[in-house]
Amino acid sequence: MNTREEALALDAADPLAPLRAQFALSPDTLYLNGNSLGVPPAAAAQRAQVVIAAEWGEGLIRSWNTAGWFTLTKRLGNKLAPLIGAAHNEVVVTDSISVNLFKLLGAALRLQKQRDPKRRVIVAERGDFPNDLYIAQGLISQFDGAYELRLIDDPSELPAALQPDTAVAMLTHVNYRNGAMHDMAALTQLIHQKGALVLWDLAHSAGAVPVDLNGVGADGAVGCTYKYLNGGPGAPGFVWVPHRLQNAFEQPLSGWWGHRAVFTMNPVYEPDDGIGRFLCGTQPIVSMALIECGLDVFLQTDMQAVRDKSLALTDLFIEQVEARCDEFPLRLVTPREHAQRGSQLSFTHPHGYEVMQALIARGVIGDYREPQVLRFGFTPLYTRYADVWDAVEALRDVLVNETWRAAEFAARVAVT
Ligand SMILES: *Cc1c(COP(=O)(O)O)cnc(C)c1O
Repeated sequence: MNTREEALALDAADPLAPLRAQFALSPDTLYLNGNSLGVPPAAAAQRAQVVIAAEWGEGLIRSWNTAGWFTLTKRLGNKLAPLIGAAHNEVVVTDSISVNLFKLLGAALRLQKQRDPKRRVIVAERGDFPNDLYIAQGLISQFDGAYELRLIDDPSELPAALQPDTAVAMLTHVNYRNGAMHDMAALTQLIHQKGALVLWDLAHSAGAVPVDLNGVGADGAVGCTYKYLNGGPGAPGFVWVPHRLQNAFEQPLSGWWGHRAVFTMNPVYEPDDGIGRFLCGTQPIVSMALIECGLDVFLQTDMQAVRDKSLALTDLFIEQVEARCDEFPLRLVTPREHAQRGSQLSFTHPHGYEVMQALIARGVIGDYREPQVLRFGFTPLYTRYADVWDAVEALRDVLVNETWRAAEFAARVAVT
């Protein structure tokens, strides 16, 4: 592509282009960070108003029943299910990835112990988002050395790492730092052949790439709604368990919302049948209600259309960076092969932090991850081909004029 007009022509022909109007986008920013925090759906402000003034203000405690608050976790789970290849009543929207992962890992370890007490190892990737490793470490620290976390540096090490002692493999489908995507079907099959269960983290997959959890036969999954699903900052995440495992999984956070008869106030915990047992306690209803606004936009398209545009946007960004920023030390660390790429591109630059700060000061918002990684997320529901053109122009300008060298861009802020 040689001109901005060509990008505008692609936008004019883009079947997803009308969906952009359903987002409350700031006119002064070019946002390439939907992989960290999605933008607000236009409907969210109105929905918040209704939840606060009418449902909370007027309905008060009655709204647990009359406004559907109590069943919201399951209703939203069913709305989200088609995006990840899940069936009806296999997903609940609740808690965070961290908490849901704790529950799932706990349930999986317990089930494997019943089946084969020798299986006491969790296999995971050292390069995973550290949070998931921290959760596994925290969980196994409760068992006085009975369990072990075995880290691999590359998926090619999986066959060797999956030994007869392995209970669970915990993997993130799309890597947060380099945007590389695993072959979920092939790895799930491999892990099952070795007798282990597999849990997938869909943080950078849900709403970003097509996922078919039942198609690949996975055993559990978690994800968040505040990244590609545009649910709002800190909005609750989700947990998926296939019907075939739901009643075999007993998760450790046995709170009252997961009881089979919540309001009998029985002093003995008895898990609900089905996915309901993965609930724990009272949920943040105001935040949770807004998630629906994001999901409603996805219902107007399908993940294949989203994927087609995502690949076109990321291909174009790579092409333009290579054409226009060739003389600078930018290196693509995301795989070029479509099948190995999520919806984000990462480049390293020796002054990656400063370059990103200078871009943000110009209104082009991506983010930065150690070491040296500039991340750009592409969100087909609201990102335009012209945005790609303009973002590369801003990047070129920052590099050519070395505006990133200004002292103000070297100061580290708390959230990068
Ligand atoms: C974003 C992300 C998380 C975040 O977990 P929270 O509990 O929502 O803070 C966890 N894991 C991965 C892989 C992520 O990308």
